[in-house]
Amino acid sequence: MEYDDDHEPHGRAIDDSLKPYMAHSRIGGAGEGAVLVFAHNTREAKRVGWCSILIDLCDGEYIDMAVKLMREPQLYENADQDKLARGIAHVIDSPKSCMDCELWGEHLNEAGVCESCAEGEED
Ligand SMILES: [Zn+2]
Repeated sequence: MEYDDDHEPHGRAIDDSLKPYMAHSRIGGAGEGAVLVFAHNTREAKRVGWCSILIDLCDGEYIDMAVKLMREPQLYENADQDKLARGIAHVIDSPKSCMDCELWGEHLNEAGVCESCAEGEED
């Protein structure tokens, strides 16, 4: 069991369920393309994420890959539900993204628009 970098800050018991991670090129940034990885920890997210379009985004440089733990529960809707239930780490190349800015990772409202974009449309 390795929980080196995945401590839950809110006192929730650490479980062995898959968590959503955003993986992208450190140099290119998330705007150049990012994949959603479901994994147990950062190390596994990197290992699994590498076997995807990331290898191209990072120009084949493993150390260029950045992985961060996401807090948006809605991201679980993108998961392969079968693999999620069985605890198998996997990559989603194109998670559901904002209709407006085409980014993902933030909560999407019923219209499929992220909170940043929705705020800009008020009034
Ligand atoms: Zn948006």
